[in-house]
Amino acid sequence: MRKQIAAANWKMNLGYQQGEKLLDEILGADIRLGLSQKVLFAVPFPYLIMTRSEVEDETNYEVAAQNCHHQRSGAFTGEISCEMLHSLAVNYCIIGHSERREYFNESNQQLAEKVNLCFEYFITPIFCCGEPLAVREAGHQDQFVAKQLQESLFHLPAEKVKNIIIAYEPIWAIGTGKTATTAQAQEMHAHLRSTMEQKYGKAVADEISILYGGSVKSSNAKELFGCPDVDGGLVGGASLNSIEFIEIIKALKRSAKV
Ligand code: PEP
Repeated sequence: MRKQIAAANWKMNLGYQQGEKLLDEILGADIRLGLSQKVLFAVPFPYLIMTRSEVEDETNYEVAAQNCHHQRSGAFTGEISCEMLHSLAVNYCIIGHSERREYFNESNQQLAEKVNLCFEYFITPIFCCGEPLAVREAGHQDQFVAKQLQESLFHLPAEKVKNIIIAYEPIWAIGTGKTATTAQAQEMHAHLRSTMEQKYGKAVADEISILYGGSVKSSNAKELFGCPDVDGGLVGGASLNSIEFIEIIKALKRSAKV
């Protein structure tokens, strides 16, 4: 059964003490999730160890990185490798967030290398895809996201790809307050699943968690998570507010698919 996940993406926000306080508040809510549900905290690199120890005794709460380098090791000042993440027992990493694609020119080919290294070091990639506004307006979003999957994931064997987490994040909805409608989200998630199915078959496609990202908040989480092909959310802004994120976790809990 595929996992349902609420993943917080803190991006480059919060001081160390603020981060600790936020985690204490969220974990203090003591929301017990179902067996196949998870909450991930994708925190800035300097907070990985602190976050890992905060969630140590929690079932279903885990730490994630926001990025890794596409090379194994070497003279890349300021970068973080998958081996480093693995040595800190970090088991999840966001790959190809649209902000990295845009500001750091990350290509689909480079992301394929990152995905490979993640798997080599037992890190589950949270692979982001999604179209810009102009592509949506031209009606080419299906081809655009399918190409992102084809060029970054289709080289993987089925036994690896079935463990990946995909996050569909329409760029026009990230940090804009503008959310995709549930119909738009469900339609795209079904398209992503069928793209994976065409390559890997139904059993594999059905195993893959596909999260929606783009202005998820407490007021829309329930409706979005209720869509049959939406397996949770990747949450930016609303994950920085404990009251908001606690409500999102509760929405995930209530959306348990049996
Ligand atoms: C994100 O950064 O992945 C994101 C979806 O941000 P927001 O929730 O703020 O739109």
